[in-house]
Amino acid sequence: MPEIDEKTLKSLYSRKKQSLKKHPPIRGSFWSFEEFKEWYTQQYSKEAKCYYCGIPESIIEKIYWDIKGTKRPRTRTRLELDRLDPFGNYNAKNVVLACFNCNNSKSDIFSAEEFKAIGKEIRLFWEKISSEHEVV
Ligand SMILES: [Zn+2]
Repeated sequence: MPEIDEKTLKSLYSRKKQSLKKHPPIRGSFWSFEEFKEWYTQQYSKEAKCYYCGIPESIIEKIYWDIKGTKRPRTRTRLELDRLDPFGNYNAKNVVLACFNCNNSKSDIFSAEEFKAIGKEIRLFWEKISSEHEVV
């Protein structure tokens, strides 16, 4: 479990809140910091994995720099917060952890259930890269 301090959590929390200003969600309410903290701690009390493809965060961290030509910033090795209902708000009922591949591809086009099928294919991509880099 990666250690995460209160300051980082608060920054993550307020950046999410800020990001909603242009397009406020039409359903649900934004979680309180306490709710967010509890959810986050719970997610990381076990091995954190992408909800869609199942890749563990630890594997993404290991192979990240080997992905050819990626220009993604280092923060992208972390799993991201994805809303199951993209028009719903950020709260414990609506948020899952997702890798950047799944989160970007899902966008607000696919439903969470539809995307689980695509996640299986993305998993194959991760496994291919992992085996090429002898991570697993
Ligand atoms: Zn994924």
